[in-house]
Amino acid sequence: MKPSHIEHIGIAVQNLEEQIKYYEEVLGLTCYNIEEVADQKVKTAFFMVGQTKIELLESTDPEGPIGKFIEKKGQGIHHIAFAVESVQEFLDHAASKEVALIDKAPRAGAEGLQIGFLHPKSTNGVLTEVCENPKK
Ligand code: ZN
Repeated sequence: MKPSHIEHIGIAVQNLEEQIKYYEEVLGLTCYNIEEVADQKVKTAFFMVGQTKIELLESTDPEGPIGKFIEKKGQGIHHIAFAVESVQEFLDHAASKEVALIDKAPRAGAEGLQIGFLHPKSTNGVLTEVCENPKK
């Protein structure tokens, strides 16, 4: 039940190409994957830091969740994602603790992961994701 590590930190960005440059040239990381997730109206870029990823999120639609987030709050940290054994089990556990859920069941995220979001109104303003790697 307990998360094993922080799977990734999601960061909302205005311009993916510019931000990739920053992470590569200033932090010295390598972007190893760029992927569009149509379902969430985002284009994502991934960097690995130890066993944690940085996930940059650029909106492909101003009406999408990242487009709206940037309009309201500007660029910055969008969510924290914890690696769990079972997303469904974790969501059921959270629900049993009166936590409001965005997802009641796992859905497909970037990088072949199964993901689920808890609602930030129940998580002290921190949008929280849990992910499960079905290939593990
Ligand atoms: Zn994420």
